[in-house]
Amino acid sequence: MDKVDAVIVGGGLAGLSAAYKLASAGRQVILLERGDSPGSKNVTGGRMYVDPMREYLPDIIKEAPFERHVVKEVITILDDNSSTQIEYSNDKWKAEPFMSYTVLRAKFDNWFAEKAMEKGAFIIPKKKVDELLWENGRVAGIRADGEDIGAHVVIAADGVLSFMAEKAKLRSPLIPANYAVAMKEIYKLDEKIIEDRFGLKDNEGAANLFMGSVTKGMFGGGFLYTNKDTLSLGLVVGIDALLRKKPYLEAYRLMEEFEVRPEIARWIKGGELKEYSAHIISEAGLQAVPKLYTGGMLVAGDAAGLALNMGITIRGMEFAVASGAIAAEVANEAIEKRDTSDTFLSLYEKRLKESFIIPDMETFRHSKSVLENPRIFTVYPKFICELLDAIFTIGKNNKESFYKSAKTVAKKYLMSWEAVKDIMSIRKI
Ligand SMILES: Cc1cc2nc3c(=O)[nH]c(=O)nc-3n(C[C@H](O)[C@H](O)[C@H](O)COP(=O)(O)OP(=O)(O)OC[C@H]3O[C@@H](n4cnc5c(N)ncnc54)[C@H](O)[C@@H]3O)c2cc1C
Repeated sequence: MDKVDAVIVGGGLAGLSAAYKLASAGRQVILLERGDSPGSKNVTGGRMYVDPMREYLPDIIKEAPFERHVVKEVITILDDNSSTQIEYSNDKWKAEPFMSYTVLRAKFDNWFAEKAMEKGAFIIPKKKVDELLWENGRVAGIRADGEDIGAHVVIAADGVLSFMAEKAKLRSPLIPANYAVAMKEIYKLDEKIIEDRFGLKDNEGAANLFMGSVTKGMFGGGFLYTNKDTLSLGLVVGIDALLRKKPYLEAYRLMEEFEVRPEIARWIKGGELKEYSAHIISEAGLQAVPKLYTGGMLVAGDAAGLALNMGITIRGMEFAVASGAIAAEVANEAIEKRDTSDTFLSLYEKRLKESFIIPDMETFRHSKSVLENPRIFTVYPKFICELLDAIFTIGKNNKESFYKSAKTVAKKYLMSWEAVKDIMSIRKI
């Protein structure tokens, strides 16, 4: 069988990063994307932390069509009828180089694909890869629409459900407990209204996180990011928690209730709903990372389980970009040395361990077990809201001292063995 240097399955960030790098190294690369165009099927929150990925694609980061650089973090903790908001900003985030940007994937990925094509990559949209081809026990190409394409290396960058990794027997089918479902809406809103409403200027952006009763005690939370002239609003909820919920609750109902909460509705007021999407996110961190290579094949990005929910943020895009770039480097060396064996490609795992990806995932390997504690979404938001209620309410009766009020609320919510265990569990993250 004739072979090109590399075939990449999936035109998301991981696949495009690999295509860009391999084409820049002068390799023949074919990337197949099942969507109408790169970015058309891709869902993210989305805030991209660029510092960790700068060394892998410095030129791309310089020119990329980002939306706004984030200078403000807002956390809103909600009880059923009350809420507490914490806002944090820092002047250092207002100076270049910026730490993180909001992005719209339809725009970003399409632009990235053009950059990869300028380097010489062939990007073929509307092409779904169905099968892997095998030769002497190694992956030797792909089959798409009945057509075979031979390759020295296949890079599976086909996202969170990765049927390619499954077909290569690198991972088993999806376990609901390891995933969350996310719903996302994009609202069009005038640029000036966004800046006035969120207290921003000069392309500054805000990242808002919502937690507590919006997920009805289930693992998850909401997000709201400011883009140039749109807002990205979404809600994430654990699939396992949703399946166990009694009475049964449709995920979209949660989203409907979420967006009409006054704490959320005020941000999107007057906005025109432009897009609605839903997607799955890997929540298991390192636990869900499979073997990442086999003879003739490497797995990158979400397909490799490289995503991390740190509670305060979801990280996956910089992992996708960096792992795609590292996969390309290893594939390039393997092709050079004419050795695409399982043993040679194990270099990929070694390089991921030397990068920021595996070490960060190691540090937060207990995130899921800490975050899936339902008390985080019920007891503690109630504690915070009731504590503030006790302090701020002045009624017809005599006002208690702040200390006494705080002690009463703390006794109600924190004086239990569960609370002690929860505090101890924080040491794990
Ligand atoms: C709601 C939500 C919020 C998130 N928020 C953030 C955030 O704020 N910050 C952050 O860093 N990360 C966030 N993440 C995670 C982040 O979006 C992902 O980690 C990242 O998009 C992974 O990129 P990828 O290229 O690996 O996969 P994807 O972007 O999913 O790309 C995979 C591509 O493969 C294609 N494909 C699949 N199968 C085939 C096939 N058989 N043949 C051809 N093509 C195929 C798909 O169409 C798709 O284009 C979020 C995720 C979600 C769902």
